[in-house]
Amino acid sequence: MTKVHNFSAGPSILPQEAIQACVEGIQNFSGTGLSLLEVSHRGKEFVRVVEETQATIKELMDIPEGYEILFLGGGASMQFLMVAYNLLENKGAYLKTGVWAANAVKEAKLFGTVDVVASSEDANYNYIPKNYVIPTDADYFHCTSNNTIYGSQMQSFPESPVTMVCDMSSDILSRPVDVSKFGLIYAGAQKNMGPAGVTVVIVKKDILGKVTRQIPSMMNYAVHIKSETMFNTPPVFPIFAMLQNLKWVKKVGGVAEMQRRAEERANLLYNEIDQNPLFVGTVAFEDRSKMNVCFLLNDTSLEEKFNAAWKAAGISGIVGHRSVGGYRASMYNALPMESVEALVNVMRTFNS
Ligand SMILES: *Cc1c(COP(=O)(O)O)cnc(C)c1O
Repeated sequence: MTKVHNFSAGPSILPQEAIQACVEGIQNFSGTGLSLLEVSHRGKEFVRVVEETQATIKELMDIPEGYEILFLGGGASMQFLMVAYNLLENKGAYLKTGVWAANAVKEAKLFGTVDVVASSEDANYNYIPKNYVIPTDADYFHCTSNNTIYGSQMQSFPESPVTMVCDMSSDILSRPVDVSKFGLIYAGAQKNMGPAGVTVVIVKKDILGKVTRQIPSMMNYAVHIKSETMFNTPPVFPIFAMLQNLKWVKKVGGVAEMQRRAEERANLLYNEIDQNPLFVGTVAFEDRSKMNVCFLLNDTSLEEKFNAAWKAAGISGIVGHRSVGGYRASMYNALPMESVEALVNVMRTFNS
């Protein structure tokens, strides 16, 4: 088999050694002689997996005391409503920077007032709004750190006067983040952390218990915390696979190294887009994402020929989201530099 360069937007690339460790765990989990797919989540071997996964996330992200780490089902999309269920009493403030943020707004409206403090919808979300004001009477401020579909990324976070909540699904662990600035961070694992099926929630305990409504158990962060993220059967295999990826991140140098690699990949590809007259980037320069790089061919009649060229080079998954068109190269933590070099090489030699 020739090497496939995997630029998939999500679920997305995982390190080969994490995949290999999953194969082994499926065959013989932790020396039990049983598959990890067929043992109790309450057995000591799997409880150890959960604890090690939490400890590794805590270490990699330098999470201070007072935070809990949960592994929930339902995807990041379920967090859109869980956040509001647990935190929205009077008003939620939202930064609307893409379809995922818009979905979060939509769900929050079911629970109370939503104040969209700024939106980039007017320009098909190709920039991050600046100079917005977060109302001090909001229960929380919700933002999306990286807009996977459009390829824009918050380069910094505001000083929020209220609890800050962030959907970090597509750039968690790609750069250091000061967790103490956030009341809650969530991320669907299938972009930068692991396979689909588990969502990581990092929540500061003291922001909970302030709404007056009744919260169903499965929607209630406090219930999940109390039962040590095992209120119901957790997504056993996705958690195990995520741990294998986290171990790899730690082994190769942690989040600082992930950031260095992300910058190296992004610099190479954006330089090509900017220098090559055949291509144009779609996002405001200062808001460009280091995870999802969106670009167009200036002459769309060349698309068929370009598509054939990158496919022939073993490149997979760079067709843009239908709402933007063109191309999107998703370059998550496990993507090796040689894959970006392969793509840039195709762009450089195309039509010349
Ligand atoms: C993919 C994605 C989501 C949706 O995740 P699901 O797990 O499919 O619900 C939400 N937010 C962002 C930023 C994403 O990239």
